[in-house]
Amino acid sequence: MDREETVRRLKRDHFDILVIGGGSTGSGIALDAAARGLKVALVEMEDFGSGTSARSTKLIHGGVRYLEQAVMRLDRGQFNLVRDALRERAALLRNAPHLAWPLPLIIPLYRPLHLPYYWFGLKVYDALAGKANIGTSRYLSPAETLRRFPMLQPRGLIGGLLFYDGQFDDARLNVALALTAIEHGAAILNHTAVTDLIKDDGRIVGAIVRGAREQGEWEIRAASVINATGPLSDQIRTLDDPQAPPMLRVSSGTHIVLDGKFSPPDTGLLIPKTEDGRVLFVLPWLSHTLIGTTDSYAEPTREPPVDAGEIEYLLRHARTYFADPVGTDDVKASWAGLRPLVADPSQSDSARLSRDHVIMESPSGLITIAGGKWTTYRKMAEDAVDYAVDQAGTEPSAPSRTAQLPLVGAANYNPNHAALLQTNYGLDSDVASHLNRSYGDRAEQLAKLGSEGLNARLAAGHPYIEAEVVWAARVELAQTPLDVLARRTRIAFLDQAAAIEALPRVVELLANELSWDAERQNSEQEQARIRLEHAI
Ligand SMILES: Cc1cc2nc3c(=O)[nH]c(=O)nc-3n(C[C@H](O)[C@H](O)[C@H](O)COP(=O)(O)OP(=O)(O)OC[C@H]3O[C@@H](n4cnc5c(N)ncnc54)[C@H](O)[C@@H]3O)c2cc1C
Repeated sequence: MDREETVRRLKRDHFDILVIGGGSTGSGIALDAAARGLKVALVEMEDFGSGTSARSTKLIHGGVRYLEQAVMRLDRGQFNLVRDALRERAALLRNAPHLAWPLPLIIPLYRPLHLPYYWFGLKVYDALAGKANIGTSRYLSPAETLRRFPMLQPRGLIGGLLFYDGQFDDARLNVALALTAIEHGAAILNHTAVTDLIKDDGRIVGAIVRGAREQGEWEIRAASVINATGPLSDQIRTLDDPQAPPMLRVSSGTHIVLDGKFSPPDTGLLIPKTEDGRVLFVLPWLSHTLIGTTDSYAEPTREPPVDAGEIEYLLRHARTYFADPVGTDDVKASWAGLRPLVADPSQSDSARLSRDHVIMESPSGLITIAGGKWTTYRKMAEDAVDYAVDQAGTEPSAPSRTAQLPLVGAANYNPNHAALLQTNYGLDSDVASHLNRSYGDRAEQLAKLGSEGLNARLAAGHPYIEAEVVWAARVELAQTPLDVLARRTRIAFLDQAAAIEALPRVVELLANELSWDAERQNSEQEQARIRLEHAI
């Protein structure tokens, strides 16, 4: 469905549910509701995943770190949280196998006492996963540890503990959620912000929105309105009630990306205790090395800044654990994301706030869902839709179907199809593998489009090709250069200089698809360049 048709539908129809926010939570809700046969609308102020959801550590996990808290405090609630997240991990790996994959991780051991401590924790992790386990944890000798992760500092190493979690491409998964919801009948629009809420007799009955490409504001009406705006949730809550006390405490997490040579292609590292007692990951990700994350108090904002001190903090820990030197010049990209943690006034440390989600309804009926994590987006969505259906007394209320619902690209995905794409379309092997992984069973359509003169790489050394820009505009609802460079492809998150190199051609291709005049092209290019030169 094209954008104009969606706008017409949003103006005309009365919906069962209007979702505000197209991150993992909001897009997940739209899919869950649409798959139950409900009439659902979603508006996203910028782009799918442009908030926190494209800025995660890319792990699908039960949370080894939360398990530690569960054991220390014998907290049954935390155990249940880890177990539920491990079930969701399995659902995600099943429903989007092209975008999510199992990842072995090693905890390097330098102190004898750490061995029994972490070994026990990982055995509990395996047991909690039960049938959803994706690999059994085990001890590795120092030699085995170094064979699997050769970049590690060998001095003092007494071994490692190997365990398994999932890894994924968060932004593409977010887009896949939105596209799958549309296939099930949802009306979804990105670059469209809620500017106010509409009330009848004190009850919320819809929202006023403004689209970046459309003239003026218009109304969307719905039986239930769900606020899924992540770190910005309190802003929407104050549109409902200017006196509403904040429910979130926002914390910022910075990541850096280095060349692929700093990690093996198939194994990550969990550094169990940083200098401030946190957990840090060093992960292979899309042929690069991702290190994160920090955790510091932040104000809710659309473009969280990256602090030079936080980059240095991450590099300092990398230096402690790496055998070879690593410095600021090795950083190819950095970004920060904001954790929408639900506030608990009795806790002062954001690393210890609950990662569980909370659903709240205001006296006028605004439903707000916040907290949780990417891994549990599906369960959060199911709970939110159950809540909305209950609130509005909507019939029929079919149960959620999303636990067994493949996302776009998943149904006929074949991990071995890359070789065929390479032969049939004359693609380089890295391009063929990337297309297969990123687009799943749609990869062949991308390869075909590429064969129509759109096979050139967008930036040297990266597998992204011009056909993906055209596809992003035609099929994946991309509206701006950053939608393409940051979230349909991931160049901006991997290599900011390469993204700047690709920008003019991306603008040219988008201009052709979206009918931009020269003035529009210049302003789009300038806006994207400024973002790419600073924090994404
Ligand atoms: C540094 C970091 C690392 C993380 N790592 C992991 C991890 O490895 N694994 C994991 O499971 N979880 C992880 N998480 C948690 C996970 O990323 C978040 O819980 C999740 O992405 C939150 O999604 P959301 O949809 O609630 O929020 P968001 O993704 O922020 O989405 C909210 C959306 O609402 C939109 N919006 C706001 N206001 C309006 C408006 N007025 N009108 C319309 N739209 C609006 C925003 O533009 C935004 O796109 C991490 C979080 C952070 C910060």
